[in-house]
Amino acid sequence: MDTLSRQQRHNNMAAIRSKDTKPEMIVRRGLWKRGFRYRLNHRRLPGHPDLVLRKYRTCVFVNGCFWHGHNVALPRMSDGRCKMDDVIVDSECCRIPHTNREFWVNKIRRNKERDKEEQRKLAEMGWHCITIWECELKPSKREETLESLAFTLNHIYLQDHRTNKMEEVRGEKEDELEMPMAAETDFDR
Ligand SMILES: [Zn+2]
Repeated sequence: MDTLSRQQRHNNMAAIRSKDTKPEMIVRRGLWKRGFRYRLNHRRLPGHPDLVLRKYRTCVFVNGCFWHGHNVALPRMSDGRCKMDDVIVDSECCRIPHTNREFWVNKIRRNKERDKEEQRKLAEMGWHCITIWECELKPSKREETLESLAFTLNHIYLQDHRTNKMEEVRGEKEDELEMPMAAETDFDR
């Protein structure tokens, strides 16, 4: 059921579209507070990732659940369009409007395909990609999501450095491989 009024939906979409959207600000603040430094909307990378953490070879996308079709499967038909209502089930956080449903389904499907393609390109260039969904930033889930993001980033850093540098650091003290503390920065904005 599409329960939002036209005006509400308009407001939602306008909010989601704008730069510095709230979910993105939550992620930025959460990472900053934990000592991570990043660049914003990197123009030269595919998909212009919302946050780029070069030291971690990681791009973070903060996705609106509606525009990026969180948890909705939109299979294609042979003519490239989506099958309509029989197979499309709205998810809790992505309710596709019933008015102009076909338009929205195709639009969201294209967005999803573009996301996938951009992340594939980034992966080919050696970047890790992490997607944070808007619904994971609800007040009740926010801290857990940010903690888990920080954990993943640290894990990536250690993995990369273990695999890349094991040879050259052999014989050095083990603590050379530890994560820098939060107070250290690679402030590169
Ligand atoms: Zn969601």
